Amino acid sequence: MSEQFDASSTCAARLDAEDPLAHLRDEFIFPVTPGGEEEIYLVGNSLGLQPRAVRAYVDAELDKWGRLGVKGHVDTDVEPTFPWESYEESLTDQMATLVGALPSEVVVMNGLTVNLHLLMTSFYRPTTERFKVLIEEHAFPSDHFAVASQVRHHGRTAEEALVTVSPRPGEDLLHIDDIAAEIAEHGDQLALVLLPGVHYYTGQVFPMAEIVDTAHGVGALVGFDLAHAVGNIPLNLHDANMDFAAWCTYKYLNSGPGATAGCFVHERHLGRTDINRFEGWWGTDKETRFQMETVFDPIPTAEAWQLSNPPVFSMAPIRASLEVFEKAGGMGPLRDKSERQIAYLDYLLDAVLAGRVESITPRSFAQRGCQYSLRVVAEGHAGRGVFDALESAGVACDWRHPDVIRIAAVPLYNSFSDIHRFVQILDGILS
Ligand SMILES: *Cc1c(COP(=O)(O)O)cnc(C)c1O
Repeated sequence: MSEQFDASSTCAARLDAEDPLAHLRDEFIFPVTPGGEEEIYLVGNSLGLQPRAVRAYVDAELDKWGRLGVKGHVDTDVEPTFPWESYEESLTDQMATLVGALPSEVVVMNGLTVNLHLLMTSFYRPTTERFKVLIEEHAFPSDHFAVASQVRHHGRTAEEALVTVSPRPGEDLLHIDDIAAEIAEHGDQLALVLLPGVHYYTGQVFPMAEIVDTAHGVGALVGFDLAHAVGNIPLNLHDANMDFAAWCTYKYLNSGPGATAGCFVHERHLGRTDINRFEGWWGTDKETRFQMETVFDPIPTAEAWQLSNPPVFSMAPIRASLEVFEKAGGMGPLRDKSERQIAYLDYLLDAVLAGRVESITPRSFAQRGCQYSLRVVAEGHAGRGVFDALESAGVACDWRHPDVIRIAAVPLYNSFSDIHRFVQILDGILS
């Protein structure tokens, strides 16, 4: 494959010219450097760029609030507004398509960590015999805090209830065999497995369906945190058969800081009456909700987990964002472009930066999305200093303690020229 690439800027320009999705870059607003140039924005793994259409979607709802006040709840105004009392419904179909789920399995609500708690309230039901939770040793802190506090909430200590998996000594990535071995070892005592779909630190993609099968085989339930997976890699949550999943929408879904999060509950758990759930009025049957009865009649979809009425201004940007995914033709064409960008960046890292920068992200396409976790190995250069120099040169990327620079070429808006410029700048810093 590498014969189609060389390290010249002409090659990058040709790849951009051949890119059928290149025009989507114009749908986004790029931050500019103090010198007035567009940033080389490679940090969509942390906060995605603003789609230009967001402003119109948010303005339309602000305008509606001004014009109609409370009547906005039921107003069926023309696009792009949507009645507030069922605003969440305006996101469901497109979000379900994006994650490979049935519309009934998906709801957009709350924040990611809040959703993890609400879902664990239903799917972490420890008994005297079965009370352990398997997570990674170095899980994202919020996930760790959520699990540890759930365990304590049920009267257990983290020491007795947490089972952790970690990379082997001297390695960065997790082995699926090691995860399977832990699941087998704690089999009868394992209540829940909670892992990421894509690892935030290394970019490693986990074989979700395989993990689900193994865990279900010992009688444990399985949830995934998809913060770094949604909008990055194609997903099939329904077929992967996980019990639940949660994700945020401000990373690869470009919906703005703290935007409302998503969650998935597998069809087999919908409409169950024997399920424990924290409840609020937004989870009860829509027909009787406003009769103000105090009988909870769960909506037979993932919407039953909703507590409050939807935060319209944090959801309007998601509508704009999901439209861009639709314009792209969904995750299929985006992944095609992403793989081409990955192959190109692999080529440049080898051709230009070999021996000075290493990627700890898995090399096989099946095990990674668009994120690279780079470690500076060039003599006389500290990773942190290189990161600072990148930032000063107009590259937006991020630093993850202790020694990783994360970058992501996001196929929706990053060009091949962005990738080329990044490598050129990094080469300059390390020369
Ligand atoms: C980004 C991220 C979070 C953030 O949680 P919020 O509740 O949205 O603040 C949590 N977990 C993982 C794995 C993440 O990548």
